[in-house]
Amino acid sequence: MSYVILDLEWNSAYSHSNHCFINEIIEFGAVKTDDDFRITDTFDALIKPKISKKLTGRVKKLTKLTNEKLREDGDTFLNVTREFTEFLGDSVMMTWGTTDLFTLMENYRYYKHDRHIPFLSRYCDAQEYCEKAMGRYDEGNQIGLGACAELLGVTFSEEEQHRADSDAALSLKCILKFTDSFSIYPFVRQADCQEFYDRLLFKNYFITDLHSPVVDRSQMKFRCDKCGDTTRRVKRWRLHNKGFVSDFYCKSCGRKFSGKVSFKQKYDEVKVNKRIFEISEKEKSDKKTDAQPQNQ
Ligand SMILES: [Zn+2]
Repeated sequence: MSYVILDLEWNSAYSHSNHCFINEIIEFGAVKTDDDFRITDTFDALIKPKISKKLTGRVKKLTKLTNEKLREDGDTFLNVTREFTEFLGDSVMMTWGTTDLFTLMENYRYYKHDRHIPFLSRYCDAQEYCEKAMGRYDEGNQIGLGACAELLGVTFSEEEQHRADSDAALSLKCILKFTDSFSIYPFVRQADCQEFYDRLLFKNYFITDLHSPVVDRSQMKFRCDKCGDTTRRVKRWRLHNKGFVSDFYCKSCGRKFSGKVSFKQKYDEVKVNKRIFEISEKEKSDKKTDAQPQNQ
């Protein structure tokens, strides 16, 4: 198996025909490796912008690219993707996080009126791999490439960052920190199918309706965190911060506590999160008046 780690640079461009901003790709940079992640080839190509011929100040500053440089050295998006397709061959494509995939889809939709990425057949998210290898994977708080490199003690100069080829090489340096001890194979996914896109585009959400069929009622019981016995719910469920909260009473030891349970719908599972916490002082005093046990 060989790998191609791809990084893109893009410019925020206003499309008058589509009446919206598009992240117009201006550079493809990639490194190709063998099965042991030794570099065997590199790819770097600039794209002559079509949607907006002017780079934003931010992009100019970040990438050090100029309008003149792209005009002189850039090729069209479709020519560059054709060359990249050849370069990729049957390698597994990797990017740092899925943002580059979304940007590719956006550009394909603009140029081909179809957002599928034609050269993508097997894919691996380098960010997910590194975060899981580090044991700090958190969907809601993903770690940038530069920050990850710093955490891992990978040296790079600020100058080198934010150009496609050097960012791809930096991703590789991070990946290499783990490949000896943490298998990458489980992270390689088939990507030439609708399921890949469905999964990519799926937005997780919290279930806020207690009567939803995906709510597992057995998860709404709490055991006492002091003695381990079953408890009785003494309040109505209320929705708070995307979870259901109620108070519980343990007859065996007299402990009272609040329990919170949330159900997060993901693409192929519902993730349940349960937490026990102390009843606030204010609520305790309220409780004196309505502490009657209630049935579900
Ligand atoms: Zn107890």
